[in-house]
Amino acid sequence: MELPMVQSTRLDQLRGPVRAKRHNARTIAALTGNPGCDRRAVLDAAGVDKLKLAEQVGFPGSFGQSRFALSRGNAFEAMLKADDCALLREVLAASSELAYQDLGADHDDTLGDRHERTVELLAGARAALVDHPLLTLDVAGQTVYLEPDLIAWAHHGRLQVVEIKSFAIIDDQAESAKVSGAAVQAAVYVLALRQLLERLGRDPALVSHEVVLVCPAGFSLRPAAVVLDVRKQLSTLRRQLSRMASISVLIDALPPGLTFDLSLTPEQLTAALAHVEPRYAPECLSACELSVYCRDEATGSTAALGRTVREALGGIETVGEVLALAEGRREPSEDQAEAAALLRAALRLRSEALS
Ligand code: SF4
Repeated sequence: MELPMVQSTRLDQLRGPVRAKRHNARTIAALTGNPGCDRRAVLDAAGVDKLKLAEQVGFPGSFGQSRFALSRGNAFEAMLKADDCALLREVLAASSELAYQDLGADHDDTLGDRHERTVELLAGARAALVDHPLLTLDVAGQTVYLEPDLIAWAHHGRLQVVEIKSFAIIDDQAESAKVSGAAVQAAVYVLALRQLLERLGRDPALVSHEVVLVCPAGFSLRPAAVVLDVRKQLSTLRRQLSRMASISVLIDALPPGLTFDLSLTPEQLTAALAHVEPRYAPECLSACELSVYCRDEATGSTAALGRTVREALGGIETVGEVLALAEGRREPSEDQAEAAALLRAALRLRSEALS
């Protein structure tokens, strides 16, 4: 999907004279983490490097996987894929007869060539375990290349995405934030595959909404597979991508000449950020490069305490106001009356419990 020329020029202005930061499955998945945030929507649509922006305004954060997690993940994936995916076939209960097709990260060719090979392979109907496929997805007018860990075309002629992760499943449990992150990332691949099948004139429903997550079981690297239904993640993702495609309303409301050009001073960039409404929530800390900056900015606001608190105290913006209403030092407005009564009752109960 091409962006209109005016909109694309405005996005270039917002970013400044550098190449747009490219998305990948991880960053697209992170878009769903806080779909109501205008600041993130604008910066991502313009391809601003948020990590560098955070550094520039004095709030660098450690973001992304640790080096240990990366090397553990690479070792686990290499082990699963060794000998034509012998171990992975065992975990997936895939027949040893099933062909293994490596579309080759090692080939000396461009991303476009590899994508072409993926399209050619998926246009046919041969059953195979497809390794190193390269898919594409449109994100705010930008074509993003995506590399799923593997596509298993094995289950009754349906395409199934296999996502390999290095976090452990212990006693059938894994950290829920990590599992939901993996589910959203897999949903990105499902969406890209469905769009590809549509372009090929094939039925997109051939791509299963059930993805297979393969993780180490316990503290060893012995693999285990679980099936995740990603229908919910798919619909959030579609909504967020269409919001980015219709970013023009947000952009039109920004002051003319506003830019996040990284060569500006920290003060100028901080002032520019103030023009785009954030929606900070503690979840931002694991999903957005600007989180340390936005958390600092949100200090003292009820929003910084999380969505549940923000929703329970709707209409009361700051912790100071909450305390004043609870202690009766401030008269509530009409729409704060209910929350104020609850706050006074909560304070009374707390005082009784403590005395
Ligand atoms: S960290 Fe800031 S910019 Fe990022 S999603 Fe949260 S509020 Fe929005």
